[in-house]
Amino acid sequence: MTKRDYYEVLSVNKNASAEEIKKAYRKLAVQYHPDKNAGNVEAEEKFKEICEAYEVLSDPEKRERYDRFGHQAFSPGRGGQGFGGFEGIDLEEALRTFMGAFGGGGGSIFDDFFGGGGRGSRKSAGRGSDLRFDLEIDFEEAVFGSQREIAFGVLDECTACSGSGAAKGSGRETCRSCNGSGMMVTSNGFFHVRQTCDVCGGGGEVVRDPCKECRGAGRVKTRRTLTLKIPAGVETGSRLRVSGKGEGGLRGGSTGDLYVVLHVRPHEIFQRRDEDIYCRVPIPYPVAALGGEIEVPTIHGYAKLKIPPGTESGKVFRLRNKGVSGIGNFRPGDQHVEVVVEVPPKLSGRRKRALQEFADTIGEDDHPRLKALKKKTDEFYSRKEALERDRV
Ligand SMILES: [Zn+2]
Ligand SMILES: [Zn+2]
Repeated sequence: MTKRDYYEVLSVNKNASAEEIKKAYRKLAVQYHPDKNAGNVEAEEKFKEICEAYEVLSDPEKRERYDRFGHQAFSPGRGGQGFGGFEGIDLEEALRTFMGAFGGGGGSIFDDFFGGGGRGSRKSAGRGSDLRFDLEIDFEEAVFGSQREIAFGVLDECTACSGSGAAKGSGRETCRSCNGSGMMVTSNGFFHVRQTCDVCGGGGEVVRDPCKECRGAGRVKTRRTLTLKIPAGVETGSRLRVSGKGEGGLRGGSTGDLYVVLHVRPHEIFQRRDEDIYCRVPIPYPVAALGGEIEVPTIHGYAKLKIPPGTESGKVFRLRNKGVSGIGNFRPGDQHVEVVVEVPPKLSGRRKRALQEFADTIGEDDHPRLKALKKKTDEFYSRKEALERDRV
């Protein structure tokens, strides 16, 4: 789905002031508000789009990110950035934005604009729960993106009764225990306790002739399978929202969302921190001593790395732009290569003699750090001796 530019959605220009943005939003949000456009799906989509745009442009920090990275700035994968904006916001979030923008609370905004009849915060009592699904993926999948089939058990709307819970031809009637209020007041002398009606479960209605498939619950346990698109650049903790794939709603209410939380399996060669890649590469000791060029693995293919003469084991080299292209970042990270001198486990014959010949020529000055250590150690011992002499 391609998203429209947020400025375009609110019909303001890119330099619009916070006040201008709020004014534009106010006008559009009231025009497309679901309470004024009951049952109009197009208006609802428009309303959500407007609220999403406002959510971003009204927050200086989010607005700056949006100006720099566009819609990508709010995609998952940027450590903990998670949720917002991946597939747009849902109606409830949009309504929250709307209430928030106008001082929140109560129904005053509706009184102002629609001439009374304020209804406070809309409560979609029948909406299904959001679900969380933890998914382990391979390092390669996180870096390059992939598609995964996932399956899980879920309470979904009963198809036999379309979620009503009532058998074909029968309907629902007002609960007689609570007279349709969904609440019961019980009293134990001093206290009056209000609690959810246990006959109708708070819905205020009961089914006379329950559906046989779901025994009147309106939902049945099913197995949901879906293909999940994992975008390139995600990391452990990234959350993907799949809207409308959570738990089915109650009594025909809307379906919840599914949040997939990703866990990336460690890789044998590459470690990753944000967009940077770390790896350790053994080098032969003649290369460490004489210098040379070696081939090192990167996630994009082999790369050449120059080793200067006299390179110590443990030295880290940086290969620019050989890391991961994170979401919302135009420049990929770097790769850090730690070189470790690898000593041949077994030498014999001519090679052993050659090395021995070399070893015989090694002098103190070939190993300045060893020389420095010796000097400091000797100093330590002479001071120790001096102290012992004084004590006697
Ligand atoms: Zn049913
Ligand atoms: Zn009841």
